[in-house]
Amino acid sequence: MNKHQALKKYFGYDTFREGQEKIIDAILEGRDALGIMPTGAGKSLCYQIPALLLPGITLVISPLISLMKDQVQSLNQAGIHAAYINSSLTENQITKALQFAAEGRYKIIYAAPERLETYEFLNFAAQVEISMLTVDEAHCISQWGQDFRPSYLKIVQFFKQLKTRPIVSAFTATATENVREDISCVLGLKEPEVLVTGFDRKNLSFAVETPKNKAGYVLDYLKEHAEESGIIYCSTRKNVEQLYEKIAAAGVSVTKYHAGLTNEERRLNQEDFVYDKIPVMVATNAFGMGIDKSNVRFVIHYNMPQNLENYYQEAGRAGRDGEPSECNLLYSAQDVMIAQYLLESKEENPELAEEELEALRERDAERLRSMNYYCLTTNCLRRYILNYFGEQSTERCENCSNCRKEFVIADMTSEAETIISCVRELRGRYGINVVAGTLAGDDRAKLREYGVSSYKSFGSLKTLGEQKIKRLINQMLVDGFLVSTRDKYALLKLTDKADEILQGTQKIILKEPKEEPKHSVSQSSSAGKRKSDILNSKGLEFFERLRTLRTEIARQEGMPPYIIFSDKTLVDMCIRLPLTKEEMLAVSGVGENKFVKYGERFLEEIKQYTGGTKEKLYFGTFEEVEQLCGDTGKKKRKERKRVEKSSFSITREQAEKFPYADQYLAPELAEKLNELREEELIKKTSGAEIFRRVQELGLAGERYENGRRQRYVTEAGKEAGLWLGSRISKAGTEYQDIYYGRKAQRMVAEWFVKEI
Ligand code: ADP
Ligand code: MG
Ligand code: ZN
Repeated sequence: MNKHQALKKYFGYDTFREGQEKIIDAILEGRDALGIMPTGAGKSLCYQIPALLLPGITLVISPLISLMKDQVQSLNQAGIHAAYINSSLTENQITKALQFAAEGRYKIIYAAPERLETYEFLNFAAQVEISMLTVDEAHCISQWGQDFRPSYLKIVQFFKQLKTRPIVSAFTATATENVREDISCVLGLKEPEVLVTGFDRKNLSFAVETPKNKAGYVLDYLKEHAEESGIIYCSTRKNVEQLYEKIAAAGVSVTKYHAGLTNEERRLNQEDFVYDKIPVMVATNAFGMGIDKSNVRFVIHYNMPQNLENYYQEAGRAGRDGEPSECNLLYSAQDVMIAQYLLESKEENPELAEEELEALRERDAERLRSMNYYCLTTNCLRRYILNYFGEQSTERCENCSNCRKEFVIADMTSEAETIISCVRELRGRYGINVVAGTLAGDDRAKLREYGVSSYKSFGSLKTLGEQKIKRLINQMLVDGFLVSTRDKYALLKLTDKADEILQGTQKIILKEPKEEPKHSVSQSSSAGKRKSDILNSKGLEFFERLRTLRTEIARQEGMPPYIIFSDKTLVDMCIRLPLTKEEMLAVSGVGENKFVKYGERFLEEIKQYTGGTKEKLYFGTFEEVEQLCGDTGKKKRKERKRVEKSSFSITREQAEKFPYADQYLAPELAEKLNELREEELIKKTSGAEIFRRVQELGLAGERYENGRRQRYVTEAGKEAGLWLGSRISKAGTEYQDIYYGRKAQRMVAEWFVKEI
């Protein structure tokens, strides 16, 4: 058997996905391998296929019991002999399993890292041929990672004790350089084949929404997405409980998960969700690691998480089956405070020195700021995420809320001045709520109590409304004219840079969506089509029948439905309507073993429904739908370029003619660029926008140092022609600002070039 035959026979797939083959080939040549691929990319196959073809046993180290169980169930369904050894088994069961394993009954064995130390396990390992050691979720080995597990270090001690060194392969979805190096170094990988595939999850569409009433938004969303399975993440238990009550009261089938529930409750609720008994899960971030449920159609974040690492991981639980899915984040200014507060109250490692703790706190604060920028940026969200994880991407994705929105750009400099006077008048003693309330002239008891109604700035931005004032304050925070203190009070203070607004050398530009954005993207999404776009009404009806059959089988077998067949496989059945074994095996996701187990029942259902004649249950031609729903890995994404009228752009010719100079500050550069444009047709750019993009590309940034915001330039930034220089503010204080050299000016001009 070769790798292609194994793929078809056991897994029912025709082609490998991006990167899979390279890793598999390297392992089969006897080399170590490190695969860094996003969630849902198909890492498991990268070691499962070699495991089948290598002579001995493959030992897979995995951090969680639920993960192991899921994987072993899937493998057994596919007709591959596999077992797990972990604390969910009794001592007797473990002895038995190891005995079977020693007899060569299993090709793949999953174990928790703790298991490796036990005498029994070592004894077993000494008796058998271990061809490969695979470390799944390998980022757990890195102290830099989010989920460091000290027990992962035991892996190294373990395999040093083996007589012959097996091939070592490691897999993770964590991309950062530090983690990658740690894995390679700690595991002692020998000239590994390192494969890093793109981090983009093309089938996910991203959105940031700022609904006034989040619960109302969620209820509407659930109504629109009835029947679909999804997760709603809240940042606190209290939020989970409250939202859960509201959703349940609206008659939606929903369950919940957080650390305050008993183990038993958590287990039951998780099962209800995973087994498709209850479609909606409301949870804290305690839920999800190791949930491989493939048909999660949406992940809504009710609150902003603390960093993009967590966000991308949690959002990434949507759409593992490759079907279009939505990741929506509901943002409010208060989320920033909750996140700050949670960071403050985070338990700290008592073994670390104060300096190290401070460095960690600084890192957390920096991550939170990047998360906050994500919620405030008006540029492509996907590009922002990819850049954050070190992937250069310059294209707009056309499939995130920012790419889909049209923006109105307004110069809010004079309003910003008013905000500055207000913060000054309140002497930096209050947070965003009081400041915004004061400016809006709110008649709240709390404000009266503080006595702010007698201030000059009370009500001075009444016409703007409180929400818009808050958005403007947030923009000023992002642009560095204001800072909020790093305690739970999050008091607003002015930075030195605020002077520049008063002096008229800086502007504040607010970019806001033109209309309330729609959160449904099913029509225009370039990520692929939903089944309702592929199947006609009869097709959908038949899909439901197949789904019912799947649920029935799943109940009988005590197995999550997606392990029987994925939604994608069922859709393919509706399209092909197989009537024979050969035809059934051509369906994506139907391998030989699954055919033996379920093939006949599905064939029977299809025969009954069709009466033996194949009707067309889809729109378009067969080739078209196969292109849309087949998993060929070579699927071409339609490039749909949309010209956004409102954004700033110049022509190539104008870029050539641009008056490049030795140095410009961002606002000067923006001013010069603006002079080139056709005023009637094209909106202005700004220093702030240029800086934001520079920041998104990782060329420069801002951090909090000695109590104030400082700009900095990264190594990459220096290379791109940026440097830091001193300036003196009108108030006489010295501060650092970023200068753009000729090379950088060209780069910036290039961003805005639109070929005609
Ligand atoms: P990861 O571990 O990278 O998060 P998984 O290994 O769990 O991802 O795979 C995600 C999904 O992709 C699974 O449902 C799997 O069956 C499917 N898959 C993997 N490889 C292929 C392939 N070559 N063709 C079609 N589907 C695939
Ligand atoms: Mg995995
Ligand atoms: Zn986008």
